[in-house]
Amino acid sequence: MIKMAGVDKFFGPLHVLKNVNLEVPKGQVVVVLGPSGSGKSTLCRTINRLEPIDSGTIEVDGQPLPAEGKELARLRADVGMVFQSFNLFAHKSIVDNVLLAPVKVRKVPQNEALEHATELLERVGIANQAGKYPAQLSGGQQQRAAIARALAMRPKVMLFDEPTSALDPEMVQEVLDVMTTLAKEGMTMLVVTHEMGFARKAADRVIFMADGEIVEDSTPKEFFSAPKSNRAKDFLGKIL
Ligand code: ATP
Ligand code: MG
Repeated sequence: MIKMAGVDKFFGPLHVLKNVNLEVPKGQVVVVLGPSGSGKSTLCRTINRLEPIDSGTIEVDGQPLPAEGKELARLRADVGMVFQSFNLFAHKSIVDNVLLAPVKVRKVPQNEALEHATELLERVGIANQAGKYPAQLSGGQQQRAAIARALAMRPKVMLFDEPTSALDPEMVQEVLDVMTTLAKEGMTMLVVTHEMGFARKAADRVIFMADGEIVEDSTPKEFFSAPKSNRAKDFLGKIL
């Protein structure tokens, strides 16, 4: 579903992705771990082309990433992304936040979009907040709304970049629960997170990045019980 081959990315002189090769089959849940600055966010952002790459290729569902224009809009619709900051439209109600892109980008009729949005808000457990504005919701509720908004586009892949790091501790689990359900339902997911419980339970595969490289690529069990590289051992020593 996602295929990256020989991907390099520079920020000026800084080589932030170094020959990244990564294939994520349909339905697989991949957790991306690694120290700060190792390139995890950049990796996510290249997949929906929020960041251009300098060499290599990226395909989503067999289609190479387009450079710009209409094709790019279609690709973005296929790749849902949820960030640390919820990025909801402050001046729109929760249900409108969920509705907007399907109506504007996918040209879904309003009533159909409303029906789907209501269903999604139910799925993430905030149907009763539909008419409120983002600022009236807790952080956990806002992040669940952001997930519903991404799902409204019926994406083929969901990318999560530290979706729970900005949340108060008591709200982390409600967001992880939604993500775990999504994983069980068969969504293809790439998740950057420091939540090791989620990595152990929900991930099919763990990727460990350091200095722009994929250093380890294994099952959660292997990774947590017997990391191969010193960098991974060092990382786990600090966080576990
Ligand atoms: P964190 O765990 O702190 O979120 P990360 O693994 O997500 O880190 P990235 O944000 O991908 O790391 O950053 C990788 C490297 O690229 C870092 O050295 C960072 O400073 C640099 N970088 C990221 N974005 C930019 C940018 N827009 N311009 C210049 N350098 C950048
Ligand atoms: Mg990051």
